[in-house]
This record gives sequence, C-alpha cells and structure tokens, in this order.
Amino acid sequence: MHEEDPVTIIGAGLAGCEAAWQLLNRGHSVVLYEMKPEKFSPAHRSGSLAELVCSNSLRSNVSDHAAGLLKEEMRRMDSLIMKAADETSVPAGKALAVDRHAFSRVIENRLNSFTNLTIIRKEMIEVPSEGIVIIATGPLTSDGLSHEIARLTDSSYLYFYDAISPIIEGDSIDLEKVFRASRYDSTGQGDYLNCPMEKEEYENFWRELMGAQTVPLRHFEDPKYFDGCLPIEVIASRGISTLVFGPMKPVGILNPKTGKIPYAVIQLRQENREATLFNIVGFQTKLTWPEQRRIFRKIPGLEEAEFARYGSIHRNTFINAPALLEPTLQLKKNEHIFFAGQISGVEGYIESTAMGLIAGLSASAFHRGKAFPPPPPVTAMGALVNHITSAESRNFQPMNINWGLFPALPQKLKKRERGACHALRALTSLDRWKSETLREL
Ligand SMILES: Cc1cc2nc3c(=O)[nH]c(=O)nc-3n(C[C@H](O)[C@H](O)[C@H](O)COP(=O)(O)OP(=O)(O)OC[C@H]3O[C@@H](n4cnc5c(N)ncnc54)[C@H](O)[C@@H]3O)c2cc1C
Repeated sequence: MHEEDPVTIIGAGLAGCEAAWQLLNRGHSVVLYEMKPEKFSPAHRSGSLAELVCSNSLRSNVSDHAAGLLKEEMRRMDSLIMKAADETSVPAGKALAVDRHAFSRVIENRLNSFTNLTIIRKEMIEVPSEGIVIIATGPLTSDGLSHEIARLTDSSYLYFYDAISPIIEGDSIDLEKVFRASRYDSTGQGDYLNCPMEKEEYENFWRELMGAQTVPLRHFEDPKYFDGCLPIEVIASRGISTLVFGPMKPVGILNPKTGKIPYAVIQLRQENREATLFNIVGFQTKLTWPEQRRIFRKIPGLEEAEFARYGSIHRNTFINAPALLEPTLQLKKNEHIFFAGQISGVEGYIESTAMGLIAGLSASAFHRGKAFPPPPPVTAMGALVNHITSAESRNFQPMNINWGLFPALPQKLKKRERGACHALRALTSLDRWKSETLREL
C-alpha cells in the first residue's frame, strides 16, 4: 500500500463522516461514497451528509450517564460529530439536542475544507477489491450493497430485523422474589432467573398487556413477523392462555421456595459473562418504552427493574460482528474491509459515530502498517468494541451504550455513585490509551 492510496468509505452518515474526519486529520486521502440524493433509504429525507433520520436528541450530556460518558470520550478524541453537535445545540435540559440542518451543514463544511477528500454521490453495489474500504451504510443499507455484504460475510451472518427483548440491569432484580432454575433441571443450580406468577397475577398481567400502547409501524416496516419472534402482545392477543403455552410456560420449572410449579414463569437469561445484564426471554415487543417500564415492572422481582435496553422490533441491517470482526473492526476474512456505525452491531446515533471514530483510527494505523490496540473495555468506546467483537455470537443483538457493558466496578456502590465512578475510571484510562496509542498514529 502506498502512502497516497486513498481510503474508500461507503456511506456518509454519522459513522462514515466521523471515520473520514479521523483519516483526513491524519493526512490520508479519502473517497467518500454517498447514494443520496440519487437514491434515498425509506427513512432519509435530505441530501445532506450526516442526516439525523429521526429524533434531534443525542441523549444524555452528563458524563455520569453512559451515553454522556461516550460523548465526553469522543470530544477528547476530537470527534467531528461532537464538535458539530456542541456548536449547533438547542436547549434540551441534561440532554444534547441539535438543530439538525445546522448540524449537517457544519459537518459538510468541515469535511469540504480538506482538499484530499473526494465525495462521490452514487449508490455502491460492490465493495472495491483494491485498497482499504470502510463500510458505513447504516441500518438501511441499500439492497444492492446488502447482497454484496451477504456474499462477503456469508449471508447467515447478515440480519435485516432486530427483534429484541428488554434487557434489565442485574443489580436491579429482586433476588428474594426470583429463583434460579433451568427447565427440567433437578440440580437446583439452574442457568435462568425465574419470575413466578400465580393465576390471578398472570391474568392481571395479561389484561395490562392487552390494553397497552404500541409503537406504530413505519411505512417501510412490514408487520410479517417470523413465528419464532412474535411480539409478546401479539401472542397475548390470541387468547388469555396463549402466553402460558408460549414464552411464559412453566412446565419443568419447580419453584424451590414453594416446592410447586407456578402458574406462569418469566425467565431471565444472563446476557454477559459478568452477569450484569439479563434479558426477558421471548419478550420482544412493539410496546412503547413507558408502557414496557410500567407493565414489565409488574413482574414479580422486577418491581424496581432498570432497563439497560427496551424491547423493540424494527428494520435494521447489521452483521453478526462477534463472528465476523476483529477488535480492530476489520473483517476476519479480509483485513482490507472495515465495518463502522450501526451496521457493525451497535445501536444509536452516538454509538454509530463512536464506531466510525474507531474504524477511522484503526484504518489509519493499518494503512501505515502499525498495530491498533482498541480502547480499554473500561471506557465507553472500548465497552462497545468489546460487546460487538466478543459477545456470544449465537444470540448477538445490537446495543446502546449502558453500564451493563462495562466491566464491574471493584466495589459495590449505590446507583447514584456508580456512574461517577465508571466515568472517572473510563476517562483516566482513555487519556492514558490516547497518549500511548495516538502518539503512534
Ligand atoms: C428509522 C430510524 C430511526 C432512528 N432513530 C434514531 C434516533 O432517534 N436516535 C438514535 O440514537 N438512533 C436512531 N436510529 C438508529 C441509528 O443510530 C441511526 O440510524 C444512525 O444514523 C446510524 O448511523 P450510521 O452512520 O451507521 O448510518 P446512517 O446515518 O444511516 O448513514 C448511512 C449512509 O449510508 C448511505 N448508504 C446506504 N447504502 C448505500 C450504498 N449502497 N451506497 C452509498 N451510500 C449508501 C445512506 O444514504 C446514509 O447516508 C434510527 C434508525 C432508523 C432506521
């Protein structure tokens, strides 16, 4: 590879623009392909780069929240998206919200000030076979390119829908009310936490579900669900007992506290090795977030549940990153191809941006023949890289940043103190990593 060979980036959304900025600032030439305005995804509307497709909020701006910490880390890494967001912010309390048009304008102007950037407006349906390529085409990657990615990655590792059950923070579960057991397991050890319900509790829960508000489908979302991942409220709507024959079936689950099989059981499955996160098995849903919080907190043991991630079912193109990517965000099968943004297996504006930032730095190092150690997992950026590249690939689902993705703190703290402690550890570690790693890049 020659010094002057450009890096190709496909997709000029949040991740693609951030990756381009990191590369340009390190003296690389970049060719950035964007299909708008020639072709629009079903959600994109403007011809601008880095379009925010929905909300204008980038969530919490306080660094003792995981989303706020991620922003602070990106500011320290000279992020273009964070500069633009700070310059174009509008009042939004403790959140960071932006004027979306001004935000895109700042990003375009900054990128256009580089003479070594070429922007080509066309849909890419092939990944160039020469040179370094970063794929950052987002959750609504065009069909043509999706076929190409399926070819490059093995189609069984490319998904087009998220069907996600809510994920609960482990230390918010009331362990007095739940019990450990696996179905038909007599050892008493058990891999699942089980929330038991008696008949009356179950029927009240079912009635709440039947009256709950759901998120309306977008025009491009086809409500043809796979039978294996029907929304919980759709299963419930088929009759008062359907859930006890489906995701709440109690057979083979003995409650050691009563010596009986409960009328219904909700199972919580451990989500990570540290056991800081648990998902509610089979509870993928289109209920609104406030309704999930209200109704799922009626489950015995979850009265105080903190939701690391709410359930959802939506269109989303993403790869099974733990099976496919190195921690440098390079494809295991082809080190010239990097993935960035939502397609790499994260969820959300700032998380997608962060994966653009890391892919840009990593591609710069690779271009110069240098090693790129990803940020430490105690940082928010490192926690995301760690999740997408080392989670269990069988049940892999994209994630927003949340404390459950971070290694546990050495001491048990109250919730209020936890965030500040995580933030201090992360920022100290990031500064050290930055001075050691970036000096080389
Ligand atoms: C409908 C919808 C609403 C969302 N709302 C929110 C929200 O409110 N808050 C939040 O935090 N997250 C939200 N997300 C999730 C996600 O964080 C955003 O989609 C985010 O913009 C992803 O960033 P990205 O850079 O990975 O992709 P994008 O920002 O989507 O950028 C990808 C770019 O690639 C281009 N492209 C696609 N295919 C090709 C091709 N073949 N050739 C050339 N260019 C191509 C697209 O035109 C686009 O400009 C939403 C997602 C969707 C689908």
